[in-house]
Amino acid sequence: MEGRPAIFDLSLDELASWLKERKQPAYRAGQIFQWVYGKRMADFGRMSNIPESLRNELQEHFRSAGLTKVRQTGSADSTLKFLFSLVDGNLVETVLIPASPDLYGLPADRRTLCVSTQVGCAYGCKFCASGLAGWSRNLRAGEIVEQIMQVESDTGEKVNNIVFMGMGEPLANYNHLLKAITAINAPWGAGIGARHMTVSTSGLAPRIRELAEQPLQVRLAISLHGATDEVREKIMPVNRKYPLSELMDACAYYSGRKKQRITFEFILIEGVNDHAEQAEKLSGLARRIGAKVNLIPYNKVHGLNWIRPSEQQQSAFLQILRRRGVDATIRREKGHDIDAACGQLRLQTLRYKSFAGISEVR
Ligand code: SF4
Repeated sequence: MEGRPAIFDLSLDELASWLKERKQPAYRAGQIFQWVYGKRMADFGRMSNIPESLRNELQEHFRSAGLTKVRQTGSADSTLKFLFSLVDGNLVETVLIPASPDLYGLPADRRTLCVSTQVGCAYGCKFCASGLAGWSRNLRAGEIVEQIMQVESDTGEKVNNIVFMGMGEPLANYNHLLKAITAINAPWGAGIGARHMTVSTSGLAPRIRELAEQPLQVRLAISLHGATDEVREKIMPVNRKYPLSELMDACAYYSGRKKQRITFEFILIEGVNDHAEQAEKLSGLARRIGAKVNLIPYNKVHGLNWIRPSEQQQSAFLQILRRRGVDATIRREKGHDIDAACGQLRLQTLRYKSFAGISEVR
């Protein structure tokens, strides 16, 4: 990572230690983070209650920002996608979903932000834009946190829910993810409740168990997409490492430890996993874990040939789940174009570097 760390990379304790080395009182850390998080203002020069000499030192040692917005798109249902350039020129995307009534059972007036945790992704799910371009690197904790700060500054409104479901496998960047969650949750940080954060994973079973041991009550969503090993392996290579039996055991463990209901995400792809037998098997898995199921009709990803099932087929699949007593929904509206296709904006941008104004982006 080039140059200075960003101020968002530091925890309160780390900033207090840095200040202590400079013979500064510990309360300065709280004052600085009050500007950074409380006022959403990370420009050191404008921190009027901080002595000028310290402001200059902060400037020398830390970046006030590690992300630069290079592109923003909005869809008809007002979902907003932001493309950020990192200091090394890599790109990540963040998606704001203004109201999400069917996301994880959250209230309808919520503003949910889908944040990225890695540049690209190594897991190579066959339906996913992020997997297409491969993995470049993990995001630092500050780069995860700053996506929230930037979107809030840009839109002038607070985000209520965070979903770690953008580019990357969050649990493959475990330490930075935990540090980011802590900063997002902390009273000195963004102050968003842990129950308003959802970690979405392709199924790294050992990490799910580790996350279960953490004190914070973050929610868990599993990108399942196949209800048998045979089908899941076709579209998710991770299943060869952590087959369904191991994944389900880890889910049951998480659910039991946290006393929480987890969510299974299931992208419906024609001819792959949209038939009745998959619905029956999925019902069995969901009932065993007590999980809710979000069905997501496949969205076209440029360069991939999968097809979205007809609405009739989608409904038939849903009805099987419901007849088996599973709490299931189909996600059709808000965020229509992000669910199955995290990483698309970045991919398009990498392909069309000449897009106005961002030709400098690597
Ligand atoms: S679905 Fe998630 S884990 Fe799979 S390739 Fe895409 S970003 Fe990675």
